[in-house]
Amino acid sequence: VRSGMNTPPRWCEGPFPSLRHCADWRKEGGTMRTDTSITKDLVGVYQAGSHHMVGDGFPVRNMIPGAGVEEQLSPFLMLDYLGPQQFPPTDRQLGVGEHPHRGFETVTIMYHGKVAHRDSTGSGGVIGPGDVQWMTAASGVVHEELHEKEFAKRGGLLEGIQLWVNLPKAYKMTAPRYQTLVDAEIPAVELDGGAGRVRVIAGEFRSVKGPAKTFSPVHLYDLRLKAGHRTELDLPEGYNSSLFVLHGQVVVNGSQAVQEVEIALFGRRGERVVVEAKQEATILVLSGEPIAEPIARYGPFVMNQRDEIIQAVHDYQAGKMGHLS
Ligand code: MN
Repeated sequence: VRSGMNTPPRWCEGPFPSLRHCADWRKEGGTMRTDTSITKDLVGVYQAGSHHMVGDGFPVRNMIPGAGVEEQLSPFLMLDYLGPQQFPPTDRQLGVGEHPHRGFETVTIMYHGKVAHRDSTGSGGVIGPGDVQWMTAASGVVHEELHEKEFAKRGGLLEGIQLWVNLPKAYKMTAPRYQTLVDAEIPAVELDGGAGRVRVIAGEFRSVKGPAKTFSPVHLYDLRLKAGHRTELDLPEGYNSSLFVLHGQVVVNGSQAVQEVEIALFGRRGERVVVEAKQEATILVLSGEPIAEPIARYGPFVMNQRDEIIQAVHDYQAGKMGHLS
C-alpha cells in the first residue's frame, strides 16, 4: 500500500538546519511517497551538528544530539564519530584524562588505531580495530581514555565511534560493569549474494545474537555493504532506529540518498528498512526500545531529575566515584 504524505513530518518543524530530508519534502511539494504498511518512514537525514576535540586526542564530529535528533533516538544519547585522522608518532599519550560518568553507558567501537582505557573500578584494557568496549558507568566511574602507547609511538590512523546509551531509571545507580567485546567474538552474518556482512554487536540479526549485555532492548550492527548491493533490515516496530553512514553512499527505501557522515532517522512505525550501497559502505545500525522516562543531563552525568544531577556532582567531588590508581 503506497500513500501520499500530505503533512510534513513533525521533525521538519523546528530549528533543524541540517535536516536535508525536509528540504526534499518541500521541494517535492509534500508528495513524497512512502510505504507505510511495513517499511519504516525515513524522517530525516542529518549532518554533523558540531566538529570539536574531546581532550587533546579525539577529533570528533557529533551526530547525536548535535543534529537535534536526541529525543527521537532514546535510548541513544550521544554519537561522536572519531576521526578518521592520521596522527604523527609521539611519545605523549593523547586523549582524555581522568573524568567521571554516571547514569548511562559509554560504548566505544574501533575501526582503526588503538585506544587504552582504565577506570576507578580497576577495569581497563586496550581496544583495536573491530573491538568494542561497552562500559556501564551506572552509579559512577572515573576513567581515562588515551591513545594506546605503542600506537602513539608509531603513529597512524585513528577512527572510531563513541555512543552513549541511556540506562532505565531502575539501573542508573547499580554497580558499574565493563565488557570488552573483541573482534573475534562479535559474530558476522554473511549477506546473500556476497552483498556484504552484518557484525552483530548487540541484540540480534536473523537469529544471530550479539555478545553485548544491555539493560534495555538494543540492536547494534556494524554493517558493511558492497557497491551495487542491497539488503533488508528488520528493525522492530516501536523502536527508535537509525543508520549512521561512516563511509560510502547509500539509498534507503528505494529513493532517499544518505551520504558519507550523515545519519538517517526512521519512524517507529513499520519494521523494514531497505539499504542499497551506491558506493561500498560502512554503516552503524542503531535500533532500541525508547526509555520513556525524563532526562536530566549535565556534562558526563545523565539522570532523571535535576536533584540527582546535583547529587552526582557532589558525589564526584567527594570522591565517591573513586579515583584512578
Ligand atoms: Mn569518558
